[in-house]
Amino acid sequence: RAKRKSGEQIEIFQDNIQAPFLLKYKVEAELRQAVNNKEFDIKYQPIIDRESEKIVILEALIRWPIATTTQLPAEFIPIAEEADLLQSIGQWVLESAFKHFAAMLQNQQYQFKLAINVSPGQLSKSGFAYMVIEALTRFKIPPDRLILELTEEALLQNSSMINETLASLSEQGIGLALDDFGTGFSSLPYLLKSPIKIVKIDRSIIQSISQPDSTSHDMLKGLTYMLTKLDFDIVAEGVETSPQSITCADLNINLLQGFLYYQPMSEHKIKQLLEDENNTNHLSVVNSNSPL
Ligand code: C2E
Ligand code: MG
Ligand code: MG
Ligand code: MG
Repeated sequence: RAKRKSGEQIEIFQDNIQAPFLLKYKVEAELRQAVNNKEFDIKYQPIIDRESEKIVILEALIRWPIATTTQLPAEFIPIAEEADLLQSIGQWVLESAFKHFAAMLQNQQYQFKLAINVSPGQLSKSGFAYMVIEALTRFKIPPDRLILELTEEALLQNSSMINETLASLSEQGIGLALDDFGTGFSSLPYLLKSPIKIVKIDRSIIQSISQPDSTSHDMLKGLTYMLTKLDFDIVAEGVETSPQSITCADLNINLLQGFLYYQPMSEHKIKQLLEDENNTNHLSVVNSNSPL
């Protein structure tokens, strides 16, 4: 009986360690197919100006709708990076988003920018800056309409290749944003030395600020004070409730992104939204003097 019991334990133990490995290999295999068959899609989530509530940035977020292993970018992106598949996936995202964005820019009233997430592996590949600039030129997109979002991980590598890439992207007028900031501060010295001008405060911080006396509220207050003094633009990620939005207003955080405003949306939905927004603004100007 004791034997059987220990046998069961071993089995359970093995299941537990094997499951993540198996999943990883399954995801990797499915990803290889997906790259060949171009199974990805892009959704766009607006970042708005708090006062006007107008869209100032559209962030491109990859989607993999037919995946059977995992559909979460937070899960498959790191696996793609490790399997050396993120170069081609990243290239696809860039080209596809540029194509969509170039079409939107046909309307010259649109002032918003496009933001794209890039991984440390993409940034450390030689020729990345050149590749981005070549693609911008091909799609006739002004470099100052593009923002690349990078993670603390990319900064913490303190690699000369990444630093040179960031410098040349920035010299060309491309905006750089630090994504998911505020969970650890080890990247702060690198941030201050980098050409990054935009900092996106991580959702986990925004979601813990609801009580004005909480430690995280004080921390966010200090953080925004410092970043503002240093001339960074600040974006709050993951704003889900109006108390969170009000706290951002109190702290003078002017750029907001989250489900309270918009979910990530298809290119088609975004186009409709932009047209509606354009028309509404037009109407409100026309109506502002009307007796109604
Ligand atoms: P991220 O760049 O920080 O993107 C924000 C994530 O938060 C997105 O998840 C978005 O859908 C989600 N989000 C936005 N507002 C809210 C909110 O109010 N509440 C909650 N709960 N979530 C919100 P998503 O699309 O699943 O992407 C996860 C991460 O995967 C991204 O985090 C980014 O790091 C990575 N990623 C996505 N697309 C790409 C890509 O094309 N290339 C690379 N390298 N990474 C990507
Ligand atoms: Mg991002
Ligand atoms: Mg983020
Ligand atoms: Mg995030």
